[in-house]
Amino acid sequence: MEENCVFCKLIAGEMPVEKLFEDEEIMAFNDINPQAPTHFLVIPKQHIAKPGEIQDGDEALVGKLVHRATRLAHKLGLGNGYRMVINHGDDGGQTVFHLHVHVLGGRRMLWPPG
Ligand code: AMP
Ligand code: ZN
Repeated sequence: MEENCVFCKLIAGEMPVEKLFEDEEIMAFNDINPQAPTHFLVIPKQHIAKPGEIQDGDEALVGKLVHRATRLAHKLGLGNGYRMVINHGDDGGQTVFHLHVHVLGGRRMLWPPG
């Protein structure tokens, strides 16, 4: 748990969250400011600040995030198409510095994203 990290606070149950999935290693929940009809995040419970801080040995955990993201996307009816995004750093548009996979769907996604 990292002080002042909003996602660590969600994991610790210190803030309300619309949880979609949880196990001992990861959690998924609806984004508070959705950019598509369906927009949820999948995060590790371990505080990893950003993709560039993923360490050797974290491969299975990162794979689990992507795997759960796809499972939930299909469960939520996004089989026709969805987008997964992981932002790193300021230029990548990262605003919360706890690793997260975005899943967006329920509308036609634009490309390039800008
Ligand atoms: P990023 O810009 O990639 O760092 O994405 C951070 C995402 O976290 C944004 O889409 C925010 O809307 C979302 N977010 C921030 N605070 C919360 C919260 N308390 N609960 C759910 N989603 C949040
Ligand atoms: Zn954190």
